[in-house]
Amino acid sequence: MRDPECIFCKIIAGEIPSNTIYEDEAFKVILDLAPAAKGHALILPKEHYADIYEIDEEVAGRAMKLAKKLAIHMTKVLGCDGFNILQNNREVAGQTVFHFHMHLIPRYKAAKNNDILVWNHETFSAEEMAEIRDALKCD
Ligand code: 5GP
Ligand code: ZN
Repeated sequence: MRDPECIFCKIIAGEIPSNTIYEDEAFKVILDLAPAAKGHALILPKEHYADIYEIDEEVAGRAMKLAKKLAIHMTKVLGCDGFNILQNNREVAGQTVFHFHMHLIPRYKAAKNNDILVWNHETFSAEEMAEIRDALKCD
């Protein structure tokens, strides 16, 4: 299944060029056009799923296995010192391309602009934390 308006579907179909570093029957892995660091890559499932809410569970599991394999391979080849695996869902969370993808971001101690992800810390009382815990508990 593909979305005719989706840029990643077009890349997967070869209609838009990309620097591909890995491909199999279910995934294409490309270099990000605006990399956060040298080697920043994106794992794209070939089927169009908008996000984590839509993606098939089996495909999501295979994407994580592929992320592990590529993290090891890329760290060896690039000589990076660490690695972020990042996956945004919906606009409020920073998603800009609405075709599920996982970012593979090599990190280098020597990098000048090491814009490591940071967030502000919110504070909740012990009672609020207990409420949140109870609401979220699941099997
Ligand atoms: P998001 O913000 O949705 O998590 O990430 C989308 C990513 O796709 C961004 O890092 C952006 O640089 C990358 N991107 C957007 N358009 C293209 C494109 O046409 N080719 C490639 N290789 N990457 C793209
Ligand atoms: Zn798509």
